[in-house]
Amino acid sequence: MPQTIDLTDPQTRARISPVRNERAPLIGLSKKALAVTLVEAGVPVKQARMRASQLWHWLYVRGVSDFDAMSNISRDLRAMLAEKFTIARPEITAEQVSQDGTRKWLMRFPSRGAGKPVEVETVYIPEEGRGTLCVSSQVGCTLTCSFCHTGTQKLVRNLTSEEILAQLLVARDRLGDFPGAETQLGAIVPSEGRKVSNLVMMGMGEPLYNFEAVKEALLIASDGDGLSLSKRRITLSTSGVVPNIYRAGEEIGVMLAISLHAVNDKLRDELVPINKKYPLKELMQACRDYPGLSNARRITFEYVMLKGVNDSLADARELVRLLKGIPAKINLIPFNPWPGSNYECSDWETIERFADFINDNGYASPIRTPRGRDILAACGQLKSQSERLKKTDRLALEAMMIAGHGE
Ligand code: SAH
Ligand code: SF4
Repeated sequence: MPQTIDLTDPQTRARISPVRNERAPLIGLSKKALAVTLVEAGVPVKQARMRASQLWHWLYVRGVSDFDAMSNISRDLRAMLAEKFTIARPEITAEQVSQDGTRKWLMRFPSRGAGKPVEVETVYIPEEGRGTLCVSSQVGCTLTCSFCHTGTQKLVRNLTSEEILAQLLVARDRLGDFPGAETQLGAIVPSEGRKVSNLVMMGMGEPLYNFEAVKEALLIASDGDGLSLSKRRITLSTSGVVPNIYRAGEEIGVMLAISLHAVNDKLRDELVPINKKYPLKELMQACRDYPGLSNARRITFEYVMLKGVNDSLADARELVRLLKGIPAKINLIPFNPWPGSNYECSDWETIERFADFINDNGYASPIRTPRGRDILAACGQLKSQSERLKKTDRLALEAMMIAGHGE
């Protein structure tokens, strides 16, 4: 049975969800910005770099969320920092654990200026040898891909670099992935190595429509003096914001995934409407031009399998033609249903036939096993608390999964 951890118990809540206030966040600032911020707060210019490095280590190597834990920083400076700044984690309003070990957290970020507090979903997927964290970049999405649940929720706002990084920090806290911490009893994690070894920008939102914050957060996540995730283990997924694809390669340098889903403009206009703005020809050219592309650094093309819509062998043939010359891997995603969706997932044999065809033509074509469907954590099922499912919808969804898409 999927499990929901009770966060209404005040003690559990206080332990994992410290209350935040309106002090300025230090998480999410680049090293340079951190040093500048310290100087503005009164730290002598000569000390700024050294203090910024110390803080960086505490925040990102040790994972502390309380200035008092920073033992090599004087009491006076700690008090000053605590008065002006915050390094507290967001509140965790729900934590769900799927039968398959997938975890979903709902995190609540305080208001920014006049805006309301927002809630964001983050998903952890443990596998043999790796643990992948699926991070959100926006609350809702401005795009309206017809098969995506997030696409039915209007954009509430972009997340800040602090909020993007906080998702990684909270996951590492909860999984005991910082030095000296213990893994939560019973948590399913890789048997060795880091619990969060990979990060994918595949949660809610279109990361390339929140470029600066995503860039800042990913550069911090991959910084060798801090969180140290290899850029080869970070993947940014885009629906095809062509002008920012090159910039992503040049300025962030992480792995790229393209949500392709259709091989002709007519169908892609319908499934991924941003295609009307940046059609396939431009998208494919942007992929060919992606900085650092090679056989060792291939682009992942995501392709959701929709019954009778995009799953024929003719589609597979066209896909192979379209990708010619691009070092690519094709990730076939069985469609994950949600209440009100107008699609069905392709039959398993159809998916396998499609995968075999692509494979025979020289492309790796793994089929992505749906994970965490029972807690609505699978691809395209995320939607924030503000628009949580009504009970009737949840029951309808469960019935749908039992009828045709269950694990
Ligand atoms: N906005 C970005 C990243 C988030 S979506 C993008 O579109 O790439 C992550 C992946 O899940 C995308 O490939 C998306 O197309 C896919 N997806 C969305 N809804 C889905 C659903 N219902 N079933 C399966 N995959 C889905
Ligand atoms: Fe937005 Fe991506 Fe969903 Fe499209 S698939 S609506 S871009 S989150």
